[in-house]
Amino acid sequence: MKFRPEFSWEFLSADEIAHKSLRALRNHIKHIKEVSPYYRDLFSNISHEDINTLDDFHQLPLTNKTTLSENTAQFISVNSSQIVETVITSGSTGIPLVLPLTSNDLERIAFNEALSFHSTGISDSDTAHIMVNLDRLYIAGMAYYRGLVLLGTNTMRTGVLPVEIQKYYLETLPPSVIVALPSHLRKLSQELAKLGFDSSKSSVNKVICIGESLKTPDMKPNATAKALQEFWGANLFSTYSSTELAVSFCECTQSHGGHAHPELVYTEIVDEHGKPVPDGTPGELVATPLGVEGVPLVRYQTGDITYKIPGTCSCGRNSMRIGPILGRKAQLIKIQGTTIYPLTLTDALDELDMIQDYLIILENDSSLSDRVAIHVVSPPSSVEKIANHLRAVTKKNFPILVSNMATLQSLRGSNRKRARILDWRKYSHTEQHKTQV
Ligand SMILES: [Zn+2]
Repeated sequence: MKFRPEFSWEFLSADEIAHKSLRALRNHIKHIKEVSPYYRDLFSNISHEDINTLDDFHQLPLTNKTTLSENTAQFISVNSSQIVETVITSGSTGIPLVLPLTSNDLERIAFNEALSFHSTGISDSDTAHIMVNLDRLYIAGMAYYRGLVLLGTNTMRTGVLPVEIQKYYLETLPPSVIVALPSHLRKLSQELAKLGFDSSKSSVNKVICIGESLKTPDMKPNATAKALQEFWGANLFSTYSSTELAVSFCECTQSHGGHAHPELVYTEIVDEHGKPVPDGTPGELVATPLGVEGVPLVRYQTGDITYKIPGTCSCGRNSMRIGPILGRKAQLIKIQGTTIYPLTLTDALDELDMIQDYLIILENDSSLSDRVAIHVVSPPSSVEKIANHLRAVTKKNFPILVSNMATLQSLRGSNRKRARILDWRKYSHTEQHKTQV
């Protein structure tokens, strides 16, 4: 397979993209009724011929993670002989989803990531270190690897290593590109500095930051972005992806919102009733991946809150862009009737260097407020400063509890991700859940 970015729809006009999307969605509905037992039932009274506008498409029922999780077999649309790889979701909602991929799904994933990396300016003259695990049934590391190889980039699967070995590879096999989890890379940067790694002489000029936002809700660089920028002196790009959708939304050279790849996904931002919200208004990211064989989906609710960035991007792409993920829908925090996005709290805590680690625990209090306890690993003398900083950012008071690493680790348990929020509420303000990020 050869990478042909010129066939991408991204540089078409917004009207042409909408026209092509509608045609692709009609074909998708026709096809999914033929191959997917779940959608054959769900759409028994719906024909693709009924969908004549995107508004018609927006009337179709949503599919959520619980439905997919509880009825996975009904969603699988291929024979077992067509399955060449099995992946699971990161378990951020507590229940891992097991999803099969076909060989065409793998090629689609490679094309998706190649498009994303291409938009950041990565080319076949680059050398990349993937500082992400490629095993453990994760889709992400494998997807980045395949995308970079398709792009012709010299790709090194360094993975997550002890700092001494990571330093050795950075110095002896110098990369121009790093792909990493930003919070991990921030900690690694501090460790590298202690070992005498001279970042001013580093060969790295691009850092692809996966899984966590680099921007505050109003699109300013957050504390992690500033720290990485200062250490590496490189351009930073944020990319958001979802295992179920098998697509990514990656920032281009303008670093102002993650572009959707319209030939691979139709993207909506919706309110609690599943209706599209105006551009710039936060809502749930709902997406219909196109061309998936193993587990095709229609109007899949990611559970993530973001917004559509208005206007067109100065890079020339007319594809839709999304802002930072403001938090999971199930984790919106309610204080005296006001909603606070988890990202607002985590960004504010990340800004304070005296905090080595932290954990936010949510519990039920009243219908107007959640009980929020913020456990910090930090000198006791810093508590007042932390409380004042959170008050300045959120206009609310939060109790700050000094803790230690061992306590935070035991509260987190064996979750694969380093949780920053534990949600112990018996009910959330949106749905039943017990989840971690
Ligand atoms: Zn752009």
